[in-house]
Amino acid sequence: MHKLPIVALTGLPNSGKSTLINKLSGKHGAVTSDVAGTTRDRQYFDIAWDGSYFSLVDTAGLVEHQDNELEKNVAKQLEKALEESSLVVLVIDGKLPKGGLDQKTLLKFRKLKKPVILAVNKIDSPKEIDQAVKTFNVLGIKAICAISALSGRGLGDLLSLITDELKKHADLDLKPFEHTGIAVSIVGKPNVGKSSLFNKILQEERVVVSSIPGTTRTAIDSPLSYKDTDYIFIDTAGLKKKEHKQAEPDIFSGFQTFKSVRRSDVVMFVIDAVEEITKQDQKVAQEIFKLGKGMIILINKFDLYKGDENQLRDYISSYFPFLWMMPAFLVSAKTGVGITDAMDSIKPIYERRLKTIDQEDIDKLLAKRMKINPPKLLRDQKKPKVFGLAQIATNPPLFELTVNHPAAISSQFKKSLLNAIIKDLDFWGTPLNLKVHKKI
Ligand code: GDP
Repeated sequence: MHKLPIVALTGLPNSGKSTLINKLSGKHGAVTSDVAGTTRDRQYFDIAWDGSYFSLVDTAGLVEHQDNELEKNVAKQLEKALEESSLVVLVIDGKLPKGGLDQKTLLKFRKLKKPVILAVNKIDSPKEIDQAVKTFNVLGIKAICAISALSGRGLGDLLSLITDELKKHADLDLKPFEHTGIAVSIVGKPNVGKSSLFNKILQEERVVVSSIPGTTRTAIDSPLSYKDTDYIFIDTAGLKKKEHKQAEPDIFSGFQTFKSVRRSDVVMFVIDAVEEITKQDQKVAQEIFKLGKGMIILINKFDLYKGDENQLRDYISSYFPFLWMMPAFLVSAKTGVGITDAMDSIKPIYERRLKTIDQEDIDKLLAKRMKINPPKLLRDQKKPKVFGLAQIATNPPLFELTVNHPAAISSQFKKSLLNAIIKDLDFWGTPLNLKVHKKI
């Protein structure tokens, strides 16, 4: 997968920015992140529109005053998001004079050396559209689009305006993900053996390292073929060097690891068999999990481990209970043990992430759950009623449960349903989401 152009979405509080992002992301798999520091409050959504693709980033939004640390921080977050983007969409409230913007903010946007699209929101009737565009022309931003984030009116025009603008820039690539293989990254804290593992994988007899002529991708990523399947190992530049002794910073504080994980289909999460599991290991695992990526756990340096194998597995599971659905392999980059099994497990995980389940099988599973473990009546809540379950997205898989009243459905029921989906419908190796939706 390659990097898509980034479009930053921003607006004043109450302009309808969140409604807009919900509407736009609803149809697309939401990639969420709230990792510490730089990426907090930023969510990315990969959007496909009319054959063009881009990544929409939800920013912290504009703050009018920067009186305290929090507000200053939010402003800084916005600066960073604007910096990494190729285009900015500014959402304003069409019901307010000047959309609620002051001169200073406007000037700031005019000064940005990036194209800005003004999305005039809350324009609910078609009659108002032309009028709105005329009214807000005075703000000095040429690309204007009148929308209603609530009803969805004008969103198609907005998306076309975005892709048309991006297409003007020859250096941007809006092509859909070029399928160069299953994207894999190797992630873990320093010294767990990521480089050693990668180098060992390259030495596997069935691995053929390919090169893509005319691209610089091989400088960053490593395309390879293993048992007739193409893979692309992400961000391996640092891992390829045999001697990389410099300390890596806190793994998710930099943007790099986060970015590599985002580009991956399946992440190899590496831990050390003979070192204590630390908070840092747990944090890395949580971040990968939250990004909804397929995952395998590599317990490396198994050659140094002298104890009981089951004990080691139990010890590790106790630190990562939320990863129960992820296969774990005892491996050694030194002897090569376990590496073939780990490599073999990636493709099935990738395929599970893309598969869709027949409604009939889903209905059967739900009926069985309702029989064995129906939702219990919660205190002060309505009697829970479940109307149906459906798969609404793949990669990562997403299921939607339709009920009479979401608050009446116990988290225990949701959890047991989710676990049953993973076990009975075979979604091993991938995080799975369940949305609870009120029947209208
Ligand atoms: P990275 O920082 O995660 O990339 O870790 P490295 O690959 O640089 O490995 C850190 C150290 O652990 C090096 O001294 C490696 O030789 C050693 N190492 C890595 N994997 C293994 C293994 O499976 N067994 C043993 N005995 N040592 C290993």
